[in-house]
Amino acid sequence: MITIEEAYKTVIDTACCLQTEKIKFTESLGRVLAENVKSDIEMPPFDKSAMDGYACRKTDLKNNLEIIEIIPAGKIPEKEIGVNQCANIMTGAPIPRGADCVVQVELTELINDKLVKINTEPARANISYKGEDVKEGEIVLQKGIKIEAQHIAIFAAVGYTEVLVYKTPKVGIISTGDELVEPNIKPSLSQIRNSNGYQLIAQVKKCGAIANYIGIADDTPQDTFEKVNKALNENDIVLLTGGVSMGSFDFVPDVLKQAGIKILFDSVAVKPGKPTTFGVANGKYCFGLPGNPVSSFVQFELLVKPLIYHLMGEEYKNIDIQMPLGVDIKRRNPDRKAYFPIIFKNGCIYPVDYHGSAHIHALSLAHGIISMEIGQSELRKGEKVHVRQI
Ligand code: AMP
Ligand code: MG
Repeated sequence: MITIEEAYKTVIDTACCLQTEKIKFTESLGRVLAENVKSDIEMPPFDKSAMDGYACRKTDLKNNLEIIEIIPAGKIPEKEIGVNQCANIMTGAPIPRGADCVVQVELTELINDKLVKINTEPARANISYKGEDVKEGEIVLQKGIKIEAQHIAIFAAVGYTEVLVYKTPKVGIISTGDELVEPNIKPSLSQIRNSNGYQLIAQVKKCGAIANYIGIADDTPQDTFEKVNKALNENDIVLLTGGVSMGSFDFVPDVLKQAGIKILFDSVAVKPGKPTTFGVANGKYCFGLPGNPVSSFVQFELLVKPLIYHLMGEEYKNIDIQMPLGVDIKRRNPDRKAYFPIIFKNGCIYPVDYHGSAHIHALSLAHGIISMEIGQSELRKGEKVHVRQI
């Protein structure tokens, strides 16, 4: 049995083949940029006015100035500013030749429509100089960033209308179990609703990947094999839930091998989620996750999510919060690394009352999960612990 840290390393070391595609920049929000973006122009592209006011010469500021032109944004100035002259200029308009400053309207007084009086010197030149923000050819966005709204503005500004991004992984999801029924059906005495599959769909979507729900597979090798094959054909990652334990109807590991998947691990020293299985075949990745929804939720967080991010070109970094515990937490058997759902209350961390890995209600109340290392059987009140937000 390997540790969860070794399992993580195995998954990430296996994930190598990132694929890219070109898409319209307007469609690229949330995707990961696959190349550096350079500016094809200087920014600003010309010396431009940062104020609505009067463009003139600093040496003439004490005098009344003749207004020789009006320069709205988008117009090329026609006249050169001479001694005691100025142009009425708008924010964003090109500075006329001869002028070396802009006096904002608020500091002036119009004597008539041809003459303006400057009341105070401006604190600065109020000119945004050509190239002062970005030089032509300069890298404005680095490969590997997740594209946000402010990056879309940069694409637009440098004319980068076709964006090279990493492809979004498609994730096929299969729930296994004869006892499962879909959520719209009221379970009979021996049945339970498939909560796991829908939780996984949501987890996949939250990562920004495409979720492809295949359905419920019966606990037979034939049906499981068929659905695994279909899922492998259509997706980059396949997630199965259930059927990975030691029961007589737990066929998933055998079926995965039969489908040509090389199993890299099939049990992890972690609680919940010990029978988590991972394998690869021809650039595809496959997880057999435990059937209980809390276990599969946690294993998705720890192993599947980092893989999805990795395939999208981004290293997943959990935001690490440290806070003191509000109570002691003890456990009997410290043979595996254990994860517990917790809540934040009054600046402290408290465990959520948790009956085990089928207890989805406990998970639904939790703000995050904390862990206890192998060999560690207690955490003391007041001790600062790391929280993984969920
Ligand atoms: P298994 O790993 O197939 O033995 O399943 C372990 C436990 O998880 C059993 O109690 C199952 O009934 C339960 N379980 C399996 N699949 C699901 C699912 N999709 N949704 C909710 N519970 C499940
Ligand atoms: Mg089962």
